[in-house]
Amino acid sequence: AKAKSRNGYCNYSSSMNEDSVERLLMETNLNKALERKEFVLLYQPIIELNNNKIVAAEALIRWQHPDLGLIPPARFIPLAEETGLIKPIGYWVIRTVCEQLKLWQKQYGMQDFRIAVNISAIQFEDEDFIEKVKQILQETNVHPSHLEFEITESVMQNIEKSMAILGELRTLGIHVSLDDFGTGYSSLSILKHLPINNIKIDKSFIDDVKFADDETIVQNIIDMSQNMKFKVVAEGIENEIQLNFLREKQCDYGQGYFFNMPLPVLDFEKKLV
Ligand code: C2E
Ligand code: CA
Ligand code: CA
Ligand code: CA
Repeated sequence: AKAKSRNGYCNYSSSMNEDSVERLLMETNLNKALERKEFVLLYQPIIELNNNKIVAAEALIRWQHPDLGLIPPARFIPLAEETGLIKPIGYWVIRTVCEQLKLWQKQYGMQDFRIAVNISAIQFEDEDFIEKVKQILQETNVHPSHLEFEITESVMQNIEKSMAILGELRTLGIHVSLDDFGTGYSSLSILKHLPINNIKIDKSFIDDVKFADDETIVQNIIDMSQNMKFKVVAEGIENEIQLNFLREKQCDYGQGYFFNMPLPVLDFEKKLV
């Protein structure tokens, strides 16, 4: 039998499968990817559900690898987190998003438009996080209210520290969404006290909405969030049944393949004109 190492990868060099070859390639190349400018951001529109307007976008990273092609984040973000590379990559994402915001504001106005950035828990807990974010905002001359950070419940493991950082982000005027809501373990009593703006309902709950009259947990999340004065975003909307359900339950915002895939800059711009 093949012996698996702690990280689940096969130790037999003789049975090196495609996965381990790929991991090796990725490890040796990931730290060069930034300077080689191999990362790209796609932008997925976020729609206000009662008027169908694009009010924001979520930036989603891809790695354009010279040999392996376009690599989705699920296949390199964990590695970037293990190696600590997630920090420089994450600051590159924030800076690129700010530069994009500036460009779109010049071209299209878009004074109420925000771009959301996924922030790894490791980056969120970086000692210099707030300072570096301030510096990027200053250098790119972007107003903080146009930036949004998406964090997951996992950062709440260190609740005191997280509350302090969230408080600083609020003071700065950066919006914050709690991503993948419902998949973690954050207690409702804590939720009420979080200085955040939005709750993003995880796609897995949206997947469960299969019939128009489905009674689901989704309605409860919407009601509870709105009672706490949060706006609610539904991710992973793939069909009209889900959209109609969310509209009827007065979910504020939505995103998903039913509206748009994550788009390259030029395709996103076509949606703006
Ligand atoms: P997430 O933040 O939950 O992002 C939503 C994921 O769902 C994205 O996958 C998006 O492309 C996908 N998606 C959107 N609408 C639909 C839909 O209607 N159907 C389906 N099946 N999928 C949909 P993606 O781009 O592969 O990103 C996966 C995860 O990687 C993200 O999950 C996020 O946790 C992480 N990620 C992406 N970009 C970054 C980044 O710049 N920094 C960090 N730290 N993490 C990132
Ligand atoms: Ca997200
Ligand atoms: Ca999600
Ligand atoms: Ca996620």
